Amino acid sequence: MIGTQSTLGVGPPGSALLFVIASPVGPYYPTGFKAISLEATDYAVRAWPGGVGDKKLGANYAPCIVPQQEAASRGFQQNLWLFGEEEYVTEVGTMNLFIALKNEERGQKELITAPLDGTILEGVTRDSVLALARERLAPKGWTISERQIKMGDVAKAAEEGRLLEVFGSGTAAIVSPVRSISYRGKLVNCGLKDSEEAGEIALQMKNWMEGIQYGDEAHPWSHVL
Ligand SMILES: *Cc1c(COP(=O)(O)O)cnc(C)c1O
Repeated sequence: MIGTQSTLGVGPPGSALLFVIASPVGPYYPTGFKAISLEATDYAVRAWPGGVGDKKLGANYAPCIVPQQEAASRGFQQNLWLFGEEEYVTEVGTMNLFIALKNEERGQKELITAPLDGTILEGVTRDSVLALARERLAPKGWTISERQIKMGDVAKAAEEGRLLEVFGSGTAAIVSPVRSISYRGKLVNCGLKDSEEAGEIALQMKNWMEGIQYGDEAHPWSHVL
């Protein structure tokens, strides 16, 4: 959406033009799923409390360019945004992030994503993954959590063999599995075997979502015309 009022200055526009681009697209993964590797970014911030990181504004993408290029120069496909001294895991590039692990206390399986605290984009795919997880994974014993998690705790879970899988979520890819995260000079392995490009939960989410999108499964989110 761009302001179209013929004035030069900073202020709310009196008129604006909203573009909606509807276009057919090819498969996001023409050669099938490919797990990506991430570099954890601790020197730059994508979004902050009281800011506009939870809105889909063009301005939010400018801070992503350099960290993305930096990560790419070291061979990583995307960067992982950490926030604050605690190094909370927030989002991956311009996707929301999900972490599946067995928690420390009772080995309970937990699917975790960051809470909507104003620094997280309220992705519709994030919302859909959470809804499907609550409907279809919770009855199988999974805990579904919108909570903060520190990068240090993700690395610890990996070291202890409790990290099951990590994936990004967003409209274009639906889910994007993560193989590893570079963090403090170490590579955190996110639970995939060398021969695997996606974990069980990411694959299930993709299949469930595509089934609904293509009308293969009757569902209130989708209407066959
Ligand atoms: C677009 C976007 C997402 C994903 O949102 P969807 O509605 O699922 O496509 C996540 N994080 C950021 C920063 C985004 O810009």
